[in-house]
Amino acid sequence: MANILRLLRSFSPLGLIRYVRLRLMGRELLIRGSCHCCGSCCRRINLEGEKGWLRSEKDFYAIIDEYPEYKRFVVMGKDELGFLYFSCSWLTSAGLCRDHDSRMKLCSNFPDKGLHFCGGKLPPECGFRMVEVRPFDRYLKDEMKGQVK
Ligand code: SF4
Ligand code: SF4
Repeated sequence: MANILRLLRSFSPLGLIRYVRLRLMGRELLIRGSCHCCGSCCRRINLEGEKGWLRSEKDFYAIIDEYPEYKRFVVMGKDELGFLYFSCSWLTSAGLCRDHDSRMKLCSNFPDKGLHFCGGKLPPECGFRMVEVRPFDRYLKDEMKGQVK
């Protein structure tokens, strides 16, 4: 039950619509492209906590108690979906990470598909993009069905 609640909290209404639509269409989400080090994703970040994507500063400060490395993030405001967004104080004026080689997992994993399902989007400058595709095995299955007919 706790897992289901956590899963639901990681969706926004828009994200849930995206997820259900993808499932109904039998498609999957893929991430394409590459990073060209523009630094935009470090200037506007959504963070996830135990209860899903953060909406309150109280929840954010509770995370800092447990993970002091989150102190680098500065609350900037709330986005149109009600999620807090942050900038990172470790971003240099040149747009680079102060400690790129030992940056946190959430940084090296960006962009994560969860961003799409929480209703978010990639910065317009980002070199990555999220694309919805039909998985090859499904495509193959449908083709084979067609040959049997
Ligand atoms: S730690 Fe580095 S990579 Fe992570 S958000 Fe901050 S500047 Fe960006
Ligand atoms: S926004 Fe995209 S291209 Fe720019 S630094 Fe982040 S991952 Fe790289």
